[in-house]
Amino acid sequence: MSRMSCVIAGAALAAACLGVTADAQQPPRPPYATTKVEGTENVYIFRAGNHQSMFVVTSAGVIATDPIGYGRPEMVSTYVDEIRKVTNQPIKYLIYSHHHFDHIAGGKPFKDAGATIVSHKRAKERLAALNDPHTVLPDQTMDKSRTIKLGGTTLELTFVGLNHSDSSIVMRLPKDKILFAVDFIPVGSMPGLAMIDSYPLEWEDSLKKVMAMEWDTLIPGHPGQPGGRLGTKDDVQKVLTFLQDASAAVKAEAQAGGCWDRVEKELKLPKYESWPGYERGLPMVLRRYCMLWGRGT
Ligand SMILES: [Zn+2]
Repeated sequence: MSRMSCVIAGAALAAACLGVTADAQQPPRPPYATTKVEGTENVYIFRAGNHQSMFVVTSAGVIATDPIGYGRPEMVSTYVDEIRKVTNQPIKYLIYSHHHFDHIAGGKPFKDAGATIVSHKRAKERLAALNDPHTVLPDQTMDKSRTIKLGGTTLELTFVGLNHSDSSIVMRLPKDKILFAVDFIPVGSMPGLAMIDSYPLEWEDSLKKVMAMEWDTLIPGHPGQPGGRLGTKDDVQKVLTFLQDASAAVKAEAQAGGCWDRVEKELKLPKYESWPGYERGLPMVLRRYCMLWGRGT
């Protein structure tokens, strides 16, 4: 292509003219999006930035999850508006996946819409102590399990033990064999921030419990890699293997006196180098396992 034809071709072809690869020219992702989960009649994902939530529309009302409004309260009103575009049914429930603010801050528009807010009991205890001005306290709590039935839809809430947090609920739609689980099963990427206040040994057990449940499709709390994909049991197995590998690697070094400095400066996990988030996540993984094997916590 001549220089002149590049000029008149306009912006669409500018990348080709400049010799820039197509990959570097992906259009920016819209700030939010609502999509129906393929193969379902009434299950949706609302994504805002790099967070996402599931909502389910039934003939007797809507069950929504995680308001994902940390630092962006206006986005929660958008979330409610997006539900309103799909249905006129009232929003009956808002379920918190766990107590971390990046997933559950900003729930006021749901409360104002009449939703009953449900969380694990430990989430409510933590939130009550912190009294965050942007986070609405749950109206109801559950401990080991609870089943919500609304308009012919069944949603099972299960606490599968300590993992990324001490208040994580797994939400399962038995009819669709869909699971919504947040932060403790990253899809296609390396756990990073997910490690810092986690319970690594119990986390492995909770993954085994999740794999024993009956489901096919996982909706994660952050879009899966690559391309925002959903997860499968294979993704759960990969996270479990990763945690086991990282734990074993640090354990050996820690018991030889390598924590913190030597491990944090020198230990690598080359098997996982190609995982998105490796560079950023590795220090947090190593620090968390040094706490466990080099300190006892
Ligand atoms: Zn979290």
